[in-house]
Amino acid sequence: MSNITVTHADSGLVQAEALRRERVTPHMIRVTIGGDDLARFAYRGFDQWFRLALPVHGEGGLDRMPQRFGVGGYLKYLRVPKGSRPVVRNYTVRAFRAEERELDIDFVVHGDDGIAGPWAARVEPGERVAFIDQGCGWAPVPEASRHLIVADESGLPAALGILRDMPRDSVGDAVIELFDERDRQDVDAPDGVAVHWLVRPAGSVPGAAALPLTRALEVDPEGLYGFAVGEQALASGVRRHLVGERGVPKKSVTFSGYWRLGRSAP
Ligand SMILES: Cc1cc2nc3c(=O)[nH]c(=O)nc-3n(C[C@H](O)[C@H](O)[C@H](O)COP(=O)(O)OP(=O)(O)OC[C@H]3O[C@@H](n4cnc5c(N)ncnc54)[C@H](O)[C@@H]3O)c2cc1C
Repeated sequence: MSNITVTHADSGLVQAEALRRERVTPHMIRVTIGGDDLARFAYRGFDQWFRLALPVHGEGGLDRMPQRFGVGGYLKYLRVPKGSRPVVRNYTVRAFRAEERELDIDFVVHGDDGIAGPWAARVEPGERVAFIDQGCGWAPVPEASRHLIVADESGLPAALGILRDMPRDSVGDAVIELFDERDRQDVDAPDGVAVHWLVRPAGSVPGAAALPLTRALEVDPEGLYGFAVGEQALASGVRRHLVGERGVPKKSVTFSGYWRLGRSAP
């Protein structure tokens, strides 16, 4: 579930190739993609995300991808024969260097299951991909005077991008839950935003540490803008707490289930 507004950027389908792969922390692999076509990409920062097409059945299917991923585009995607249809997964722009035409993506490596995580762990320079820019989910209401960001490791690129790009006089809290302390990254946050790194107990579900801390934080619901992303139960749990128990207006909370425990992305 999600109430993120999807923006279909003018750049349409952007073609790129993998340039390098680097393990930034034990469970996070950074893949840098690049190429001349990135000149058409309009970088917006924050948690800007995109649909990433991975040619797991051969690169031919990349040229048959739609320019947009709305209803019509999705139907066009389904018409690409299964044997060459790329797999599409959602990712966040971790960094973009316009002059070099390079875009970094931080992938959580979560074992052998799935497509994107294992792809990131083994991709070699020169492999082609394509992506469709879907804009930013971060959309504070104009009256927001305080911010609360809650994320798990899949939302770490979004949370760190927002903290990096939000106005320097912003105030609030960011709660970032990991399953391994060693996956922390450097944060560039406004002085007025307290960043709380948490590690959930081994064997517990995502949100096991972030939800109790979010409940315990003494935040005034007046003027609060909440942003919760990560495993489905974490994102919807934060939203339920803020709206149902604290009385924060629904429009003041953006949430998105980035992945679901035990289920592949649809
Ligand atoms: C807007 C948006 C932005 C996102 N940005 C990022 C990002 O920058 N970096 C990032 O790593 N992810 C990000 N995600 C989440 C990512 O799209 C999912 O984790 C996706 O399911 C991974 O695809 P997969 O092919 O590896 O696994 P899937 O085929 O979808 O799933 C296979 C199995 O792996 C499990 N699984 C999937 N993701 C995870 C995970 N993170 N941890 C543990 N188990 C998992 C599933 O429960 C399933 O059992 C984002 C999602 C959205 C909606």
